[in-house]
Amino acid sequence: MRYDVAVIGGGPSGAVAAAVLAKAGISTILIERNLKNVKPCGGAIPLGLIKEFNIPDELIEKKLSNMRARSPKGRYIDMNMPNGYVGMVRREKFDHYLRSEAERAGAVLVEGLIKSITHSGEGFVINTLNDKLAPLRARKIIGADGANSITANELHFPPNELKVIAMQQRFKYTPAIQKFSDIVEIWFDGEVSPDFYGWIFPKADHLAIGTGTEDNHHNLKALQKRFVEKIGITDRPYLDEAAKIPMKPRRSFTQTKAILVGDAAGLVTPANGEGIFFAMRSGKLGAQAMIENIKNKAPLHNYEKEFRKLYAPIFFGLEVLQSVYYRNDRLRESFVAICADDDVQRITFDSYLYKKMVPAPFSTQMKIFSKNIYHLIKGR
Ligand SMILES: Cc1cc2nc3c(=O)[nH]c(=O)nc-3n(C[C@H](O)[C@H](O)[C@H](O)COP(=O)(O)OP(=O)(O)OC[C@H]3O[C@@H](n4cnc5c(N)ncnc54)[C@H](O)[C@@H]3O)c2cc1C
Repeated sequence: MRYDVAVIGGGPSGAVAAAVLAKAGISTILIERNLKNVKPCGGAIPLGLIKEFNIPDELIEKKLSNMRARSPKGRYIDMNMPNGYVGMVRREKFDHYLRSEAERAGAVLVEGLIKSITHSGEGFVINTLNDKLAPLRARKIIGADGANSITANELHFPPNELKVIAMQQRFKYTPAIQKFSDIVEIWFDGEVSPDFYGWIFPKADHLAIGTGTEDNHHNLKALQKRFVEKIGITDRPYLDEAAKIPMKPRRSFTQTKAILVGDAAGLVTPANGEGIFFAMRSGKLGAQAMIENIKNKAPLHNYEKEFRKLYAPIFFGLEVLQSVYYRNDRLRESFVAICADDDVQRITFDSYLYKKMVPAPFSTQMKIFSKNIYHLIKGR
């Protein structure tokens, strides 16, 4: 069977891309290696995403407007989002829902692990480990197969460079940890992560607790163990999960007949490791460019240009923030002190919730600038 587009990987980026293509009448196959896959993920999503993609209320296990940052010395800063909330989803349900939306739009959903992709005539031949699937043919490909993308390897895209390795454990609520059930807590603490952060995300019936590191000299399991001990949890987790977080866009993620979206393209923001929003946005933008390419011969590169125009400033800003403030505990202490500022909180939350750089009045910018300088000098 030959399709216009094969979307490889049925996570948020692939499912959204397949739904957009199928809705436009493009024959689309969505290939997922494991339809029961539970992607290791904190499942925190911003309100802007929930609105844009009409995510049903029953998938949002918690709507959290309160957040707390903890410094290395144990200082807590409480923050509030008056204009919205972080939604907490469980990826096994969320991904299943997005894939079923793609099917409902007319995409063909199949289970199969991609083994190889070869160029053939005007398109591609895709081989899977599922014997029931004959080699599939497609004119175009969207690689949505995550940080270890086989699509990117087979089609010789430039490498995915910066990868945090992150681990998360799920703990059923007990009276001892019930106090974390209505707040997002973030730990900036070198003992928990030397170059990233630790998180405590509450879900309907459990807490998801995790940490990550860029540095492969650190033992991730030991960092996670210390984090759980510092929180004071003595119960055993019912699930351990770990995966890479690719926090740097590939040098290029577009070719003439194929594109990469989401983690496959490296579209996770530095500093906060947020990837679901960018996976779904890139899936949508990539699919729209593919439709224009198939119907009007518009170049696929328009997708990458558009994505970079919209989001490169956010990636750049967060990369600077991470490289300046996540280097040692003194700087992390300063970073948490800056988070106490009301203007910093307002600007941060507005840009997180809707992914728009919100310009602040000049006087506010100057105030924040001077505080940064003061805390940086103090932190050093
Ligand atoms: C521990 C952890 C916590 C995180 N927490 C958050 C968070 O709270 N909020 C947030 O926004 N982001 C978070 N992220 C990042 C987020 O999970 C990813 O950015 C997001 O899942 C990317 O979506 P995707 O569709 O591009 O890729 P994925 O979700 O990785 O989906 C890729 C899909 O492709 C399939 N696949 C892979 N290889 C093949 C193959 N060869 N053949 C067929 N199918 C294949 C996989 O089974 C998978 O379903 C976290 C990541 C980690 C590791």
